[in-house]
Amino acid sequence: MDFVLDKKSLLKTDILVIGGSGAASSAAVTAAREGMSVYMVCKGKVGRSGNAPISISNFSIDGETAYALGEKRADKSVTRDRLFEKIVKSGFYLNEQPLVHQFVEEGGERVYEFLRIAKELKKTVKFRPPAGWIVSNSTTGAVVRESVRRNPSVEILEDTVALDLLKAGDRVNGAIALNVFTGELYIVRAKAVIVASGGFQPYSFKCTSIDSSGDGLGMALRAGAKLADMEFQLFLPGVCLHPPQLKGSIYPFVWFAANLAEPKVKNSLGENIIEKIPPEILELGHNSRLWKLIHLFYWSDEICNDRGSNLGGLLMDFSGIAWLQYMKSLVKVNMLLKLLYKNRWRFRSENIRPLHELVKQGKPWEVGISSEYCMGGILINESMKTTLEGLYACGEASSGLYGAFRVESGLTEMLVQGHRAGVEASRYAKEASEAPLDSEYLSYVKGQLFGKLLSNSKNSSENVYILKEKISKVADSGLGLLRSEDAINSSLKSIREMRKDELPLVALHTNSLKYNSEFLVYLQQRNISLCLEAALMSALHRKESRGTHLRRDFPQVDNANFLYRNVVSLSENEIHISRKVPDFSVLDPPRNKYKDIPHYLRKEFL
Ligand SMILES: Cc1cc2nc3c(=O)[nH]c(=O)nc-3n(C[C@H](O)[C@H](O)[C@H](O)COP(=O)(O)OP(=O)(O)OC[C@H]3O[C@@H](n4cnc5c(N)ncnc54)[C@H](O)[C@@H]3O)c2cc1C
Repeated sequence: MDFVLDKKSLLKTDILVIGGSGAASSAAVTAAREGMSVYMVCKGKVGRSGNAPISISNFSIDGETAYALGEKRADKSVTRDRLFEKIVKSGFYLNEQPLVHQFVEEGGERVYEFLRIAKELKKTVKFRPPAGWIVSNSTTGAVVRESVRRNPSVEILEDTVALDLLKAGDRVNGAIALNVFTGELYIVRAKAVIVASGGFQPYSFKCTSIDSSGDGLGMALRAGAKLADMEFQLFLPGVCLHPPQLKGSIYPFVWFAANLAEPKVKNSLGENIIEKIPPEILELGHNSRLWKLIHLFYWSDEICNDRGSNLGGLLMDFSGIAWLQYMKSLVKVNMLLKLLYKNRWRFRSENIRPLHELVKQGKPWEVGISSEYCMGGILINESMKTTLEGLYACGEASSGLYGAFRVESGLTEMLVQGHRAGVEASRYAKEASEAPLDSEYLSYVKGQLFGKLLSNSKNSSENVYILKEKISKVADSGLGLLRSEDAINSSLKSIREMRKDELPLVALHTNSLKYNSEFLVYLQQRNISLCLEAALMSALHRKESRGTHLRRDFPQVDNANFLYRNVVSLSENEIHISRKVPDFSVLDPPRNKYKDIPHYLRKEFL
């Protein structure tokens, strides 16, 4: 099959932004304000795709800045310095400290700009101490759309998936993209490209958007850029497994995060595992996102040691709570939901009433742990510049801000880094010459993408949907909650075989590019499997526990030997791991060994 590009499919711009959510809109709008011509290529609809529009939408900064910007309820004692320290210690010192500094210094302005648009759209914004604001998830999407709409010079290609980056020599100069409905291919040439395409989620149980298939990470790696921290995935304890209509809902987690009447969390032996958490550690998680890390540690131990519930989770049991106390908490939740969602039983798009009915009947909620965010991503510096000329990355697609555990806001990160990427890519593009199209490289990329697959499809045998299931199972077992050398090695072997032998033999029932769902799933799995191999290799190299990387066989946090980031590169389709010592210029880490994660938390926080 030959793909003929007509003139209208050959586009030229100063800046190409890949993505259509918060980091992308922030980058695109900033670049347009810098006088650049901008194309934004979005897999779905702008403001209606990616994780931001399905998030809880809690934006946070430091209290000092919030107070100075006029929020008199903010807790001034949460200073910028304290926030910096909290992020670095919670990241187990693997953060790039200049990125943390940038987040702390620039977060206030970016979040205020975002909230200003929300207020202009007459959306509800609710303050949450010490220095955060919550809006509805649809408000987040609406603000993303509105900010782009206000900058009509940003050209948008929606329903268009970026497939691979283009290069001239070692410089990135555009991307090839496909409109998933019309089948039209675009070659977008740009002086600079910003990847803002979100994270990578390989698991079978997740609460993230289907768009989180690591496309930007895969593209960047194939083009010669580097990834880092791929072993660190943020898991969320308290995601609904039962009742089935609410499977994947994060409402049970909200119950914990909002410090409401606390249910027991029971294992299959009927033990309340909250009682197994030392009180001083439990207290650390109060009013803090450290809650996720602490509960991940203790819940994983139960679930992975065969003390989990039928569906592989735990039971949230309200039976020990006085009815009046439960109702007081419920009223609080209902009031917040009414304020944000105009309906006291609606959380995001979910009707959460069945959970209340269960409590009334004295039955527990069955909850598990799912993946929420990816600390790993494209290696950048504080200018959001990758290791390849002309290529920038921001938001969840990047790495380095949060190290081994994200304790602060991913939404503030996307706004800060998107803005910075827009500024820096524009600075570069203003000086850069136009990069020519390298037709040889373009043919190579097209060959990799379509060549074998579409022309061989009649002789192929692999079912892409079955392959997708298999890949997620491999991720669950090797890159899951509690990891071990054997499980990682076995998953690594499987994913290598799948990438080499099965993925290229995926059978497509049609070779048309017009809404070819099999081909779209294939594209996702091509990136997910590459990122998964990178993550497994990184996990194998890290023979210790750190942040959310929990090793059964190496429970120690080993600052004497592992205070570095695993950096991933690709050559000849083989993944290589090297090391990078993070920038410790402000806070120097202790070079101790800690018995396990709780021991580290005790020493660093108490
Ligand atoms: C359930 C949940 C709740 C959360 N709650 C919070 C919260 O309350 N507070 C907080 O701070 N953080 C929260 N987060 C994290 C937060 O949502 C993310 O950190 C944030 O959305 C990242 O923004 P982003 O713009 O980098 O990526 P995303 O929002 O994921 O957007 C990625 C964009 O890239 C597009 N894209 C992907 N691949 C391609 C491609 N190949 N071509 C073109 N476009 C592509 C997608 O369609 C999408 O538009 C939550 C996350 C989840 C999953």
